[in-house]
Amino acid sequence: MIDMDKGAPALAKVNSPAKGGHIIIDAEKCKSCELCIHFCGQKNLALSDATNARGFHPAKLLEEHNCTGCGNCALMCPEVCIRVYMASNL
Ligand code: SF4
Ligand code: SF4
Repeated sequence: MIDMDKGAPALAKVNSPAKGGHIIIDAEKCKSCELCIHFCGQKNLALSDATNARGFHPAKLLEEHNCTGCGNCALMCPEVCIRVYMASNL
């Protein structure tokens, strides 16, 4: 784990992974195809109510502590707009 007092990256400051994972979705690239939602074994993704600049409802993580960091969502995303992080990488 990172020592938060020694220049940890900004991402680590928003990460509290009880199951070890964290994702960041580029909402502006999302096309609302829902593939990531379907393939998340934790059922931890959903479409946002808000829309992006192109009028799509981007996917969002529901409960950060339930993300295992398995990477299924990123693998399935045709727009390559999901990045997956593990606590050990932060
Ligand atoms: S990394 Fe795995 S558990 Fe986390 S949101 Fe993606 S599919 Fe779900
Ligand atoms: S798979 Fe990618 S493009 Fe499709 S809803 Fe998820 S984040 Fe958006």
